[in-house]
Amino acid sequence: MPDDPGDNRSVVPGSRACRPKGDYPRLMNGTYDDLRAALRERVHSADLLQARGVPVRPNGRGGGTALCPFHDDHRPSLSIYRSRRDDTERFRCWSCGSRGDVFDFAQALLDYPDHTATLRALAREHHLTWPEHQEPASSDILDRAAQFYGNRLTAPILHYLAGRGFPEAFLRQRRIGYAPVSSTRDMFVREIRGAARPNGT
Ligand SMILES: [Zn+2]
Repeated sequence: MPDDPGDNRSVVPGSRACRPKGDYPRLMNGTYDDLRAALRERVHSADLLQARGVPVRPNGRGGGTALCPFHDDHRPSLSIYRSRRDDTERFRCWSCGSRGDVFDFAQALLDYPDHTATLRALAREHHLTWPEHQEPASSDILDRAAQFYGNRLTAPILHYLAGRGFPEAFLRQRRIGYAPVSSTRDMFVREIRGAARPNGT
């Protein structure tokens, strides 16, 4: 019985075939480009496969073919190749439709939850520094916001909340604050800007 080409082309339900497209969350662009470039020199889909006992037949153009790890493959359907557009390593399975770049490949193969987790794990493995500078900045802002709104828990509000079953210790522990109906957002922004100045008010 001949192979059913229609069946052969279908995407396996429940497989990861639909996800990788190389579209990273907006946050992940820019700051992490240097890290990605460094990782692209070190991480290769063929190595990841061979480390798991899946042989890869090289094609002499920096790529190769292998059994696809994302579906029940019986003849090598997975193609690893370099993109003509930007020369980055990419993969595509001609059977189940899985495709993407080396980070998509690592994420799906090693079961990382998302692109950030994938980059983190690969950076750690290859002893590359994670660009942390953005994260402390944002948590710093959140910290100040929590403090700003926490400071607005005045005696009458604490009294009211205690009556509703939220004692002060609980509010402080969970860093729950109070935002009055009048716009406190502008005040908060002013406070943050003031604190950002060396001799802030
Ligand atoms: Zn496949």
